[in-house]
Amino acid sequence: MSDCLFCGIAAGDIPADVIYRDEDFVVFRDIVPTAPTHILVIPVQHHENIAELANADVELAGRFVQTATTVAQQEGVHEGFRLVTNTGDEGGQSVRHVHLHVLGGRQLGWPAG
Ligand code: AMP
Repeated sequence: MSDCLFCGIAAGDIPADVIYRDEDFVVFRDIVPTAPTHILVIPVQHHENIAELANADVELAGRFVQTATTVAQQEGVHEGFRLVTNTGDEGGQSVRHVHLHVLGGRQLGWPAG
């Protein structure tokens, strides 16, 4: 999608602190980190949110989660981490290209706000 920020990052047209990429996924550091480790994982293919992705391609959705957990292990958040995918207005999603936040490196609070 031409007007999608994360499609622009996936295409390499918009700069980002990319730490991993393969044919299907791009992983980069969040521009406004909220934890010592705050990484975003996106599929190259545009899907608006996790529900749309899971309905369209459950195999890709599974590898999406696998990529995020692999990144967490590589980042060394061995004491624990959190995967978050905000979805829709009430879910607090600001970028309408599905992404997993990988958060760790400090004690995370719960419940979420
Ligand atoms: P969400 O609010 O769940 O949709 O998350 C969107 C995330 O994208 C936020 O944590 C932003 O800080 C992050 N973000 C927005 N623009 C960029 C960018 N250009 N590079 C990296 N992260 C970004």
